This record gives sequence, structure tokens and C-alpha cells, in this order.
Amino acid sequence: MKGRKLLMIPGPIEFEPSVLGVMSEPTDSHVSPEFIECFGRALDMLKEVFFASKCQPFVVAGSGTLAMEMAVVNLIEPGDKALVISAGYFGNRYYDLLLRCGAEVKILNASIGDVPTLELVEKTLRENHFKLVTVTHVDTSTAVRTNVQEIAKLTHQYDSLIVVDGVAAAAGEPMFQDEWGVDVYLTASQKAIGVPPGLAILMVGPKAMEVFHSRKTVVRNYYPDFANWLPIMKAYQARQPSYFGTPPVNLIRALEVSLGFILAEGMERRFARHVRIGRAFREAMKSLGLKLVVQREDIAANTLSAIYYPDGVDQNILVEISRQGVILAGGLIPDIRNRYFRVGHMGSINQGDLLATIGAIEAGLKKSGYVFEIGAGLKAAQQALLE
Ligand SMILES: *Cc1c(COP(=O)(O)O)cnc(C)c1O
Repeated sequence: MKGRKLLMIPGPIEFEPSVLGVMSEPTDSHVSPEFIECFGRALDMLKEVFFASKCQPFVVAGSGTLAMEMAVVNLIEPGDKALVISAGYFGNRYYDLLLRCGAEVKILNASIGDVPTLELVEKTLRENHFKLVTVTHVDTSTAVRTNVQEIAKLTHQYDSLIVVDGVAAAAGEPMFQDEWGVDVYLTASQKAIGVPPGLAILMVGPKAMEVFHSRKTVVRNYYPDFANWLPIMKAYQARQPSYFGTPPVNLIRALEVSLGFILAEGMERRFARHVRIGRAFREAMKSLGLKLVVQREDIAANTLSAIYYPDGVDQNILVEISRQGVILAGGLIPDIRNRYFRVGHMGSINQGDLLATIGAIEAGLKKSGYVFEIGAGLKAAQQALLE
């Protein structure tokens, strides 16, 4: 397709044509039997995607930030203590958000490209009791992945709820919600879930629902109140009509199609594909002599990468790479915003997309005057992919 560019940012991502196609069909009534069945099936499929048979799904119109907000406004009451485990920009956003809810908040930070250690998390949990702990599964600003399974164990041990911002990880990085005991896992449609922006998605476990039901104060914000949405979700799950706020009908139809693709691939295969693609991409960048923002391979995200520009190269390279047909994202962490770029490699990305992206980065580097062996990145990626 002449003039078509590949969108390789960490959301929105490239969407399957049939996901986009279904969105262009006439908008149905939100209480038609066909739509009720479609929404009900989408909610059922979410439980499979997140291995969350015990959890209550919520899907509402909004972006990932609404999902973040919805999780905590329903669980926090003024004066409650909360802990934020941050690995960058989105961890810091949770700090601001929790303050706004009236929580007493402590935040654990790490140097850029690292995560707070499990020892520090444990020490902090031992010294104070927190009602709730938030963790960013993959921080999209640094491409750092946190060990959600181990942190969930610690929060259980110290009797706190764990809320995981999985916006840049969900349906790409392994996550087994029932087994790991994640109380709330949240995401948005436009990342690895593979649906255009506009859906906030939360999976809420039994313990978190209990904490919500035993609140002493009403949720101050009307729209995100679980009390308003729980009967609606339960109605769609039971294939009954209901109404609180009009659901984004076309997006929900697209969600059903995309979740169908995800489950047809199979979660284990999908996780393995993300690992293979992520590793191949990192190998390519290293072979070009570029440095990743993430400090260690064992905490590198598989859904996206963040890469420092080499000496003599700046963000103008993104314009050149876009001319080569691939759109990439700039930096997000204020301290180093203009020193690195980000590449999304999640969702229905295939090896061709990956190689095209690496090729465009090589072309951009060459045009920026950077000296390297042309094809070194492509070769490293091919080697990793064919291993
Ligand atoms: C994208 C993202 C968000 C915010 O989602 P929006 O849809 O942009 O509001 C939150 N957390 C993480 C980890 C993200 O990647």
C-alpha cells in the first residue's frame, strides 16, 4: 500500500483489518439481543485472556487513565495508606492520582531503567501497613518490566491489595491473575488488546470486590463508581438488557473480534511470540551499538523498547524514520525526554513488521551520519528470530 506507514509506537498499535472493519458497521442498539450477546462474549473472553475465572470484568468508555482511576477511587477512602512501586512516568501518575483520592501515599522509585528491588518493597511493607499497593507491569516510559508475581506474593504476605497497571503489558506479557492473586489488573484497548483507543478494561478479583462492598463512604466520583457499573456488567454476562451509561457499541464489537484473535492464537503462544520479537529487537539495537534505557535483560519488557540515541543523533531522526515509512515515539521521562526513543512491538506485530522497523531505523541512523555496519541490526534480529 503506497503511502501507508507502519505505526510502531507503544499504543495505539497496528490493528487487524477485521477489527477496524467491524467498527464501520452500523451502530446497533446497546440493548439489542445481538449486541448483548457480543458484549457478554467479550466479557467472558476477557476472563480467559487474563486467566481470571474468579474476577469481575469491567469495560467502560474511557482511556487507560480512567482504568487507573477507576481501580483506586473504588478501593481507597480518604486517609487510607497506599504504596506506589514506580518504574517511571506511569508509576508517578499513580502517585498523583492516589493523592487526589485523599490517600496517604508513599512512592518507591528506582534509577531510570531499573525497578525498586524486592528487598526494598518487602522492607517497606514490613514497616508500614498499606491498604493498597500499585505496580506498573510494564512502564511505557522506560520499557521496564516489574516482577508482578513476586510483588503479589509480598502484598499477600503483608495483607495489602495489589493493583496492577497492565496497560502496556496486558495480552503481551505473561499474567495469570487467579494464580498470582492480582486483585485488580487494568488495561486499555489500544495497546496489545488490539482495539482502537476508547475502552478502559479492569479485571477485579474477589478480595478487591469485598473491600469495595465494605466501604464506609460512597465513591465520590459518579461515573467510575463500581456500584453503577457492576449491575451492568453482570447483566451483559447474564445476557440481559441494562443501562447506566451508553457503552461504545462499535468499540465493544471490535473488542469481541480482537479477543477472538487473541484466544485463537492461544495465550502461551502469544506470550512466547512477544518474548521472541522483543529479544530480537533488543539484539538488533545492541548490534547497532545503541544502548537500551532498561538496565538489565531480565527486566526488559517484551511489548516495547526504549533506546538512547547514539552520540550525534537527536530526535530529528524520528522524522527521517517516518519518511522511511515507520512511525516511532519520542521519550517520555522528563529527565531524559530528548535523549531516547520508544518502539512498540506488541499485539498482532509479525516478523515482517519487526524487520521493516529495524530497516527504517538503520536508514535513519545512516542519514543522521551515525557510523555503523549497514545491516548489522537486521542480521542480529534474523539470527535471534531463526534460533
Ligand atoms: C498508555 C498507558 C497508560 C495510559 O493510558 P491512556 O489510554 O493513554 O490513558 C497508563 N499506563 C501505562 C503503563 C500505559 O502504557
